Amino acid sequence: MSSSPSSGSSPGGPSMISIKSVDKHYGPLHVLKDINLEVPRGQVVVVLGPSGSGKSTLCRTINRLEPIDSGEIRIEGTLLPSEGKDLAALRADVGMVFQSFNLFAHKTILDNVTLAPVKVRKKSKADATTRALELLERVGIASQKDKYPAQLSGGQQQRVAIARSLAMEPKIMLFDEPTSALDPEMVNEVLDVMVALAKEGMTMLVVTHEMGFARKAADRIIFMADGAVVEDTDPESFFTAPKSDRAKDFLSKIL
Ligand code: ADP
Ligand code: MG
Repeated sequence: MSSSPSSGSSPGGPSMISIKSVDKHYGPLHVLKDINLEVPRGQVVVVLGPSGSGKSTLCRTINRLEPIDSGEIRIEGTLLPSEGKDLAALRADVGMVFQSFNLFAHKTILDNVTLAPVKVRKKSKADATTRALELLERVGIASQKDKYPAQLSGGQQQRVAIARSLAMEPKIMLFDEPTSALDPEMVNEVLDVMVALAKEGMTMLVVTHEMGFARKAADRIIFMADGAVVEDTDPESFFTAPKSDRAKDFLSKIL
């Protein structure tokens, strides 16, 4: 959403996410294999692939929830920090929404959204509250602001989780199967919020099994299998003319 010019020599500045030659193992398991990915500002990347292919691990390395063995990851040109204060700043820049909503159960909806901006971004309580109310309005939850998470439906809680991430004014939003834990009738209310965010120009990386969303909102599809990026193409090409047998097999099972 930010249109401020970024530093860097290339036109439009550095990639928002730059992943170069990244490898990662869990013990003997080679979970990310030579991953290379440049995501320009405003691009919406949908990551598809069978269970266990490394999609969540990839997401988690981008905001350094998981370390990598080799290679490098940069956010808007800046190498990922390994620890400390810089890491907190990075996590504020890179919002992440998980399958489980992870709201603070003992805090109201409004407090859930104002907490981190006050603590991490050092916003005043008043400014944080004004912004939180705007965001809750945007995700259609403003009237629930004084309730506690358990009083909301799963779809409402996930919309609060998105508002809470946005309250940090992130440069990038990562979504890891944000609708997988929801009852079917609540999936669209969350996807609608994500489509709106995509249209506003947010740089997004979305792991999902929602093919309707992938076709509608993705600028680019990354298909992973066994820890590697097997296809990297536009949605039209991926869905109508997948090149690899792995992708053909994947699509035959879900479409
Ligand atoms: P996906 O999100 O595509 O289903 P994951 O990134 O969660 O895949 O997992 C990739 C592989 O790494 C799987 O084989 C999984 O069992 C394994 N894995 C994930 N997290 C860990 C961990 N913390 N320790 C060991 N193995 C893990
Ligand atoms: Mg996963």
